[in-house]
Amino acid sequence: MAKHQYQTEIGQLLQLMTHSLYSNKEIFIRELVSNANDALDKFNYLKLTDAQFKDMDWDPKIVIRFDKDDNSISIIDNGIGMNEQDLMDNLGTIAKSGTKAFVEQMTGDAKKDSNLIGQFGVGFYSVFMVADNVDVITKKAGEEQAYMFSSDGTGEFEVKPVTKDEHGTIIYIKLKEDEKEFHDTWRVKEIVKKYSDHIPYPIYLKYETEETTGEGDDAKTETVTKFEQVNDATALWRLPKSELKDEDYIEFYKTLSHDSEEPMTWLHTHAEGSLEYTTLFYIPHTAPMDIFRADFQPGTKLYVKRVFITDDEKELLPLYLRFIRGIIDSEDLPLNVSRELLQENRVLANIKQASVKKILGAIKKLPEEKFDRFIDQYSKLIKEGIYTDHTNKELLLDIVRYKSTKVEGMTSLDAYVQRAGEREGETDKHIYYLIGEDENILRHSPLLEAYKKADIEVLILDDKEIDEIVTPAIGAYKEWELKDISTIEAPEALSEEEQKELAEKHKKITDKLKEILGDAVKEVKVTTRLSDSPSCVVPDSSDPMAGMAHVFRQMGQEVPDLPLVLEINPEHEMIQKLEKIKKQEKLEAAAWVLLDSAKLAEGLELDDKAAFARRVTDLLGKAL
Ligand code: ADP
Ligand code: MG
Repeated sequence: MAKHQYQTEIGQLLQLMTHSLYSNKEIFIRELVSNANDALDKFNYLKLTDAQFKDMDWDPKIVIRFDKDDNSISIIDNGIGMNEQDLMDNLGTIAKSGTKAFVEQMTGDAKKDSNLIGQFGVGFYSVFMVADNVDVITKKAGEEQAYMFSSDGTGEFEVKPVTKDEHGTIIYIKLKEDEKEFHDTWRVKEIVKKYSDHIPYPIYLKYETEETTGEGDDAKTETVTKFEQVNDATALWRLPKSELKDEDYIEFYKTLSHDSEEPMTWLHTHAEGSLEYTTLFYIPHTAPMDIFRADFQPGTKLYVKRVFITDDEKELLPLYLRFIRGIIDSEDLPLNVSRELLQENRVLANIKQASVKKILGAIKKLPEEKFDRFIDQYSKLIKEGIYTDHTNKELLLDIVRYKSTKVEGMTSLDAYVQRAGEREGETDKHIYYLIGEDENILRHSPLLEAYKKADIEVLILDDKEIDEIVTPAIGAYKEWELKDISTIEAPEALSEEEQKELAEKHKKITDKLKEILGDAVKEVKVTTRLSDSPSCVVPDSSDPMAGMAHVFRQMGQEVPDLPLVLEINPEHEMIQKLEKIKKQEKLEAAAWVLLDSAKLAEGLELDDKAAFARRVTDLLGKAL
């Protein structure tokens, strides 16, 4: 007999389970039944692929056994089972960053949090919400020795050899004194129906009950054992669509995803012809928490002829569709398809390709309200798709939405092009955009002034991190070239000749400013792109690094800051006054304020905030 200490993480988790999630404790049944289902799936697969088990009689089932005298219930399966090492690995430690991720996401709302349990792979531990003590008696298929894992849900657990005939697992739960609710077979039946009705294996309740037979003097009461199936045990996705109601799809989704919300939408496809397969895909109403984590759980399960193959393959669908929850069930793949080589399998590649088209098509056709919600939740992933899925780029570009200077809410590229096309005198086929972190700062950027004046629409891209990588890669949409307005001349810019003339005219002040600002700017020049602001800063587009930024980002490296060019507006009152200032000291203060306020308007950091504040107060004091 060996006693073991839990990882500290598990200790914390158990604390949380028993103290925070207490109000939704019924879900422990869902979690244990779901584990039993997985264990049956695994043995099913083994039986079909491993000669050793081929001819074995096997009647897969899950039994929930009640024992009132003992104050216990047990969840029993004849699935794959676990050996000593499995017990240590699976129940004694938490793989991945499960707990940590779980704790990070906890909201304090027991209902919501208890749904996270299943999503983060820590479901087993939910049993300690109701248990004083838990024994896991288990024997791994194909092995001789059975083991028992025991724990009371505090710091320790114990593993020791025991005897057990059949392979599979018994979770024997000694209920806490006040958990009488789970002795009620009606109550448990209701819970199983609610969460686990679509488990494809039969789930039985086994309990003893008093039954009276005969009448009057002949009446006899005896104890009988009931063995009652409570679920449908059909693979829902294989049923014809005409037999399925919305409620069926929704309930199945909840079992599949451990999500308590109804899905945004779903698509169910039976394909026949050169390839035969069934797919059922759901889009969650709310994006799964872990989609931006490197260790996200794949949401799609692969079946072959109803036999579960894997739920651990991250690319059954392209990565950017990792929010999809669902099932792919193929008739054409061999059962013993090597999980390692799935990626290279042609059948699967074809199913994948067809599925992506279907899913994107369905997204495109979502009714307005749902579509808006979709964009709200999944916009970043669609952008990821634009960058990675060249085959479906057109479709994705139809789905993506951006903020804009011309419309409230979001606009499609198509709508932009239509509006621009109607613009009078429009000759350039350009889609203009400006990227930054903060919508408010972007909307007030001096760079927009010239476009406003010329009545030209500019897209406002405030997903900086991803927009900076993706947007330059779009290139063009229906022959309309995308243009970053911080890298091009403003509309109605002067001819080269006029530009030279203007620069010459204001050379004195630009030279002075450059002298004062030194290395803080690459260059100071006059511009016609501004109307309301005295100055703006733009990255130096002539710098050799300018074209390299996306390469850096691709490699996951920080992009070196490009040198800035300070552009001043000679029409602005402040600049005109500046040109007349004699006192060097005053000019210096003004020069720095000009640069720093231009930087602030673009949402850039100042090197010396205190100095900025001091100069502004100084100048203001003199002005008032
Ligand atoms: P998850 O199911 O998300 O992996 P759990 O905490 O529910 O997380 O279970 C942890 C692991 O314990 C499972 O992945 C599985 O390997 C093992 N396990 C739990 N219950 C059983 C069972 N009834 N039969 C076999 N293995 C089990
Ligand atoms: Mg589980």
